[in-house]
Amino acid sequence: MSNRIAAPIAIGAIMAISFWSFGCSNGTEDRSHGSGHGQEEDGHAGSAAWSYSGSAGPENWGSLSPDFAACSDGRMQSPIDIVDAVPAKGPDLIFDYKPSPLKIVNNGHTVQVNYGPGSGLTVAGKPFKLLQFHFHAPSEHAIAGSRAPMEVHFVHGDADGSLAVVGVMMQAGGHNDPLASVFANMPEEAGPEAEIAETTIDASAMLPSEAGAYSHYKGSLTTPPCSEGVNWFVMANAIEVSTEQIAKFEGISAPNSRPLQGLNDRLLIASR
Ligand SMILES: [Zn+2]
Repeated sequence: MSNRIAAPIAIGAIMAISFWSFGCSNGTEDRSHGSGHGQEEDGHAGSAAWSYSGSAGPENWGSLSPDFAACSDGRMQSPIDIVDAVPAKGPDLIFDYKPSPLKIVNNGHTVQVNYGPGSGLTVAGKPFKLLQFHFHAPSEHAIAGSRAPMEVHFVHGDADGSLAVVGVMMQAGGHNDPLASVFANMPEEAGPEAEIAETTIDASAMLPSEAGAYSHYKGSLTTPPCSEGVNWFVMANAIEVSTEQIAKFEGISAPNSRPLQGLNDRLLIASR
């Protein structure tokens, strides 16, 4: 066992040089879109209609449009099963989330909250803006083969169009107060964004404890066009939502989770 102690230190040193560089070569082709780049689930990046089942389902995303080729050809795809992660110190995550007016949209694939300006996440000293968060049911990532009832994705973008997405498992438990207004205002049908009058939300209250405990790997959008170069941070700790809240979302958008993708030759670390 003794040699296992040294290995993560060496790996950490290597990653400090290469892994935390955010100048990704993939997934930034539409960086000129600005905030549009952060619309992880909006499907606007390609014209082809896609879904979570049937002939336009995940097994066929890659053939629906040339723009979606990464969905079938990519080797750094998301989501993955979080298992056998290498213990290593990852970059410090500094969340600076502030309250935002509630702007919410059912885009036909998920329910998404478009976040107001001024909130962000700093990853190893590099600033990202919080663009939006949205939900999947069941969770897209699995932990040791097990999926949670839901997962929320906080999508952040930097000035170069790189993305950092924080995934948080949502387990069945107590009523989630910080998310109550979100669940209460989820549009039942797909349509344009709605701004809910005199309602603010605070994403800082939605995060689990111990933000430094996460798994990290380089992956992709989990929806077409499946662009790679996304910096994924899947929090080790979950948040709770009530069975009624889970049922509310399931009645609107679920199931909306992509099947698990192979890790291939990527590094998956567990940071504490
Ligand atoms: Zn997502």
